Amino acid sequence: MNNKIVVRFAPSPTGSLHIGGARTAIYNILFAKNKKATCILRIDDTDLVRSDNKFSEEITESLKWLELIFQETYKQSLRFSIYDQYLEDLMDKGLVYSEKTEKGEALIFKAEKKPVVFNDLIRGKITIDAEEVKDIVLKKSDGTPTYLFASTVDDIDLGVTHIIRGEDHISNTFKQKLLFQAISPDKTPFFAHLPLILSDDGSRLSKRHGATSVLEFKKMGYLPEAIINYLMLLGWSPGNNTELLKFNEAGKLFNIENVRKSGSKFSYEKALWMNGKYIAETESEDLINRCIDLGMKNIEHYMYSNADKLIKTFNLTKSRMRLLTEFNDAVSYFFEPNIIIPEKLLEKSILKNNTFLNSLKKIKETISAIDDFTSENLDKSLRELILYLELKTKDILIPLRIILTAREKTPGIFEVMELMGKELCLKRIIDCSVSTTR
Ligand code: GLU
Repeated sequence: MNNKIVVRFAPSPTGSLHIGGARTAIYNILFAKNKKATCILRIDDTDLVRSDNKFSEEITESLKWLELIFQETYKQSLRFSIYDQYLEDLMDKGLVYSEKTEKGEALIFKAEKKPVVFNDLIRGKITIDAEEVKDIVLKKSDGTPTYLFASTVDDIDLGVTHIIRGEDHISNTFKQKLLFQAISPDKTPFFAHLPLILSDDGSRLSKRHGATSVLEFKKMGYLPEAIINYLMLLGWSPGNNTELLKFNEAGKLFNIENVRKSGSKFSYEKALWMNGKYIAETESEDLINRCIDLGMKNIEHYMYSNADKLIKTFNLTKSRMRLLTEFNDAVSYFFEPNIIIPEKLLEKSILKNNTFLNSLKKIKETISAIDDFTSENLDKSLRELILYLELKTKDILIPLRIILTAREKTPGIFEVMELMGKELCLKRIIDCSVSTTR
């Protein structure tokens, strides 16, 4: 008797991989890791009309990006002969009748009308009454097997022991349970149905709430590690208030019985926060490569022109980012020769600030005189100047930041200046003097 544990993730290639599907994949893999079991990827493409190879490829790409790895892969459309064999067995047992339609002949399983029960690993016992039991189409009149039948055959044929999938499949489980019992009762797997992913308003998460497909999250600048971490804890927790947990560590802790029964709310805000945490702790060179992979041409360009400086700007800015795509804006002023100060900001903080304008010459001299252009030296010299001029720090440092970076918010101004370098700082101060003394 082979008592190996086998689970499977079985997406239908009728659309993109959504975060709900991704979470199902994640829980199957975590379960497998925990039990040292096999996790199969099965593409459920028996519906030849609705399935599209483009979606199979997209699903594979999404799983690859998330680094979700399966031990075996199957495609149902390559297994039609297996379903036919099983169908013959059921016909031999006298459990199938045929029904003629305009298109051809459908084959239907005759279900015994009595209550059906199964024991869900998350929800406990679930039952339907005899009146709700209906006959089950096994083969459609176009000659293709139904999902219900093909899936059951595969789960038996591939030795699947635990079916972990979304709660929207509960009604299928009753039907499949009848099929398992008719085909091979001792191979009926355990079932666990995962709660739905909900939006903030409590309805099922859908496009109208925001991004739902995995590749959309990729394009927005999420890290796969952050998506995995967030989805992993959306419905399951290792029993404390842990929020940051690596996929590798979670395998040891995962227990399907601890998955919540009630729906879990997906918060875009929290996902962003978590992504920021992961960005902050990822090596800058790694982040840069990911930005380049995302097609961020400016970053690629800066990397070729001055890799060392780009790495330093990532070191300086990464704790403030929530998405990879934000790096474009966050690092551009270190590299672009010219920057444009937004009109309003210029008006409010520079043009109407005579104290600052009158000090520009002195600021320029002070900066020019610093040989070792470090943030410490900048800090010391500029503060001495401010004291000497009997001004307030904010009268100088706030507008200085704006003329150097064209932004109101940046990392610490002295660190920013050190990284920009003396030449670029002086150029921007001179540009400002010229443009304000017309
Ligand atoms: N292919 C089905 C779907 O994508 C899932 C099948 C299953 O897990 O049994 O909804």
